[in-house]
Amino acid sequence: MCGIVAYVGNREAYPILMKGLHRLEYRGYDSAGVCVYNNDGLHLYKTLGKVADLERFVEGKDMSGHIGIAHTRWATHGLPNEINAHPHYSQYADIALIHNGIIENYATLKEELQKHGRSFTSETDTEVLVQLIDFIRMDNGISLEEAVHQALSQVVGAYAIAIMSKDDPYTVIGARKGSPLVIGVGDGEFILASDATPLVEYTKKVIYLDEEEIAVMTVRPDAEPTLRVTNLKNVRKTPLVQTLETNLEVLEKGGYPHFMLKEIYEQPKVIRDSFRGRINVERNTVALSGIIDHQKEFLSARRIIITACGTSWHAGLVGKYLIEELARIPVEVEYASEYRYRHPIINKDDVVIAISQSGETADTLAAVNLARDQGAFVYGICNVVGASIPRATHSGTYIHAGPEIGVASTKAFTAQVCVLTLVALSLAKAKGTVSESRFRAIINELYTLPDKIEKTLLLNDRIADFAKIFTYSRNFLYLGRGYNYPLALEGALKLKEISYIHAEGYPAAEMKHGPIALVDNEMPIVVIATNQGNYEKIVSNIQEVKARKGRIISIVTEGDTTVKALSDFYIEIPPTEAMLVPILACVPLQLLAYHIAVQRGCNVDQPRNLAKSVTVE
Ligand code: GLU
Repeated sequence: MCGIVAYVGNREAYPILMKGLHRLEYRGYDSAGVCVYNNDGLHLYKTLGKVADLERFVEGKDMSGHIGIAHTRWATHGLPNEINAHPHYSQYADIALIHNGIIENYATLKEELQKHGRSFTSETDTEVLVQLIDFIRMDNGISLEEAVHQALSQVVGAYAIAIMSKDDPYTVIGARKGSPLVIGVGDGEFILASDATPLVEYTKKVIYLDEEEIAVMTVRPDAEPTLRVTNLKNVRKTPLVQTLETNLEVLEKGGYPHFMLKEIYEQPKVIRDSFRGRINVERNTVALSGIIDHQKEFLSARRIIITACGTSWHAGLVGKYLIEELARIPVEVEYASEYRYRHPIINKDDVVIAISQSGETADTLAAVNLARDQGAFVYGICNVVGASIPRATHSGTYIHAGPEIGVASTKAFTAQVCVLTLVALSLAKAKGTVSESRFRAIINELYTLPDKIEKTLLLNDRIADFAKIFTYSRNFLYLGRGYNYPLALEGALKLKEISYIHAEGYPAAEMKHGPIALVDNEMPIVVIATNQGNYEKIVSNIQEVKARKGRIISIVTEGDTTVKALSDFYIEIPPTEAMLVPILACVPLQLLAYHIAVQRGCNVDQPRNLAKSVTVE
């Protein structure tokens, strides 16, 4: 988490830094800070609150200058307050540093530095790092770059950092391990950031720094800009310059009040994009290059392990149902944070599928590395192109959902499920576990989904209307069976994330083993009761709730009469295959959560305590 932007070049740094911070605010927003250099030295300002608060705070100050660093924080060590906000100065305010990640051995390092007379103003691990760099530099009389190398070799943990110093106001140093950093190479300028969004209007040329790489970017008024990349072992690296595909339009709200709503409405296009060029209806095939090139590994797999966190984990659970039903390969779904630490059995003939929107999720990345090290074949399903997970896996598929700015994931979830459907279909075809006609029926149906999502989005006003009734509810239960069970988990997570109402998802039949004790006439229960599979069973579960006076909000298939009659509120969605319901029925659940949160006055795009890209464990 945390957003980092740094600039060095021929333009004014401050406006570029602030615009960049706004774009990165989804990554952290409890406090923010900036440091620029002009005539009389470093000028550092930080404040509790958001980027806009920082802008108000520095209003009227001299923020001119061609070099600067800026940060929006998601606190891990120390309260969100002005003192703990970044940038942090070294003891004598010679060096300023911003950091994303956690320095795990900060306590030992701090103790050691204190013995050498260093004192600390904040509670952060970050201040320890800047002090360590400065201490090494002064103690050995070496360059800042050399000191960064030596300090980072002593650090345990994860970092993306940007550093500037008053002694060389033409150079920014960046380094990463476990947290992302990208360099935009402009005309006479460099922009360093946590992701590519702050760079888009300045350059299309980007370099994704690799693990343990250190970049020294210098732009002197009288010389050509220089960029030097080395690794921790001091080996010079030749950076790969890539072309950025994102454009400005996709990073703006386009008339919607929130990014989340915009992203919900983008889903018909996103689903089309995620299967475009991959499904061939005439030939009745699905082609995913990540699978075709590695068919041997997939077909000889004794089992598949899907590992992910949060919403991606829910997509993974839908993936399990899909792969087991269609391809008949056993699938286990693991929370990455548990998997990586619980000494799992990993066989050489396991295939591990890692799912992450950002491709930077720290726990999922660690699970990927563990599985790889132990000989499993690892496949990634990610959204952000060039991120750490797609680079660490043997193969994979991008979901092509476009930048997702709203912290609560919407379009990335449906696109992940869409790609998992394609994975299951291609494995099933290769294994011969699905008939040609069944295969055709599913891909034809998948093709119609974007139109059906469009139709479902027309229900927005109706959902906004009845959402008002639930503004002050304190608890929600979400129920579903089969494919709709992971969806119940996802619906509950969405509500909890953005409205702060306690919500739990359950397999509908499990309700009577516990949660039914919570049901009374105040309790809204969202039931995904589409017309396939266990329809009669879920009708009985609804009856059980009604008998305890619970209030039913149902999602039903058009034409339903039974569940509608039992519901206090219902949402009708077009009919589709049971296995595709999660993609379609997710839309009204997202809208319900969205409207309840808006009614409650919550900041839906930046819910409290959350950040989008969870790059800490
Ligand atoms: N550990 C640093 C702090 O607490 C950075 C946190 C982060 O990257 O989320 O300030």
